Amino acid sequence: MKNLTAERKQKLWDAVIKQIANDIWEDDFTVLEVLVKLIPVKDLLQTLPEEEWKLFPEIQIDKMNHEKEAQNIYAQKGASAVYDYANKHGLPYASCQGCDAQTPIYNESCLICGAKVIV
Ligand SMILES: [Zn+2]
Repeated sequence: MKNLTAERKQKLWDAVIKQIANDIWEDDFTVLEVLVKLIPVKDLLQTLPEEEWKLFPEIQIDKMNHEKEAQNIYAQKGASAVYDYANKHGLPYASCQGCDAQTPIYNESCLICGAKVIV
């Protein structure tokens, strides 16, 4: 078997996703369930909103590294995507002097500029 190029992989993923969407539309979750069962439980848990993580206390998840994640998001998609991320995870906001704005914070650090923020 030849290796798929990135483009061909994307084409395959798109086709599979389309098929799964059709299956779900017809109330058939068989393929989705097979795929979900292949995913490590920690990764699965992270697809749920953080409020729901406590429903599975037996899964020891490292507290999300929001600072690292926010840096990645900022680098790839900019500040507004960091705000979206913070809102999705219910992170608090505080006044950041560096940004001169109310910004999402984690561990007393601004997730936009990384400065320490007094809460
Ligand atoms: Zn800031």
